[in-house]
Amino acid sequence: MCTIPDVTDKLSSMISPSLPSFPRRFPTGLLFLSFLLTSSMASCQPTPEHKTQMVHPSPFIHPLFTFDLDEWNKLKSQMPLKAHQDFEPFLDDMAQVLSENQNLILVDKKNPLPEEWKPTELLSLDSYSQLIKNKTGMQLDRPALESLMNMVQAAQNEGITLLISSAYRSYNYQEKLFQYYVQQDGESRAEHYSARPGTSQHQLGTCVDFGSITNDFVKTTAGQWLHENGSRFGWSLSYPQGAQEKTGYMWESWHWRYIGPEATAMQKNYFEDSQQDFLEFWSLHEERFRSAWKDSELENDPAPKERGE
Ligand SMILES: [Zn+2]
Repeated sequence: MCTIPDVTDKLSSMISPSLPSFPRRFPTGLLFLSFLLTSSMASCQPTPEHKTQMVHPSPFIHPLFTFDLDEWNKLKSQMPLKAHQDFEPFLDDMAQVLSENQNLILVDKKNPLPEEWKPTELLSLDSYSQLIKNKTGMQLDRPALESLMNMVQAAQNEGITLLISSAYRSYNYQEKLFQYYVQQDGESRAEHYSARPGTSQHQLGTCVDFGSITNDFVKTTAGQWLHENGSRFGWSLSYPQGAQEKTGYMWESWHWRYIGPEATAMQKNYFEDSQQDFLEFWSLHEERFRSAWKDSELENDPAPKERGE
């Protein structure tokens, strides 16, 4: 608060005619009064010096990350090309994905899950009569199930039914399944379409197989709808056509993984819509981005204004 000192008493004592020395002291009193007024008024106005002191130019290239230009330049070569040209929207998107904190673990033939790995909160699909299922006893992790409910509803609003054919599979179940296919077709053939235990995304509890579990699914209206709308709800096609070398699996138009709409947007914008490329990138760089991310600091920051934002 800026207050002007009460100078009335000082003034009256200075200019009071009862004072014998008035004629001599008057000019001095006026000068003093003028000094008081000027200095008290001046303290109400921020001087250029004040302004300069309040602004601290940030060394960081983005308000949400503690990357300075040197650091970013070192990191840049490992980033998608589009992020080189324009890092601001890339870091905006990165902050979004970090804040959603979905399960983005890379699971493939080279990166298996441990036998004991389980989703955080498995829920039974049997409790939801809105979901059309081809068997009972299926489960999904909560975020995936919640998103699935929304997506199924949106499809239904357009007269389309998304049939759910498979969801969570435990390590042990996958082990039995793989063995069954090995007996049917031999190990090398089975490896192309079935996952060894630990290497199935179904163990995450965030994957759903839709429809017939054949590539005829893509020809159906449900398959078309999912390919057009799935990413909007955060669902990503894990094994696209022509990507067998990259993913290790044949085309599976029916197998979708929930990664969240922020992540599907990043996958689309920076990784040519390849889930495998995005998740490989994420597994390499998440820790670096998370440690440079400022969001967790904001609540406890003693002087957020000093960031110059
Ligand atoms: Zn599947």
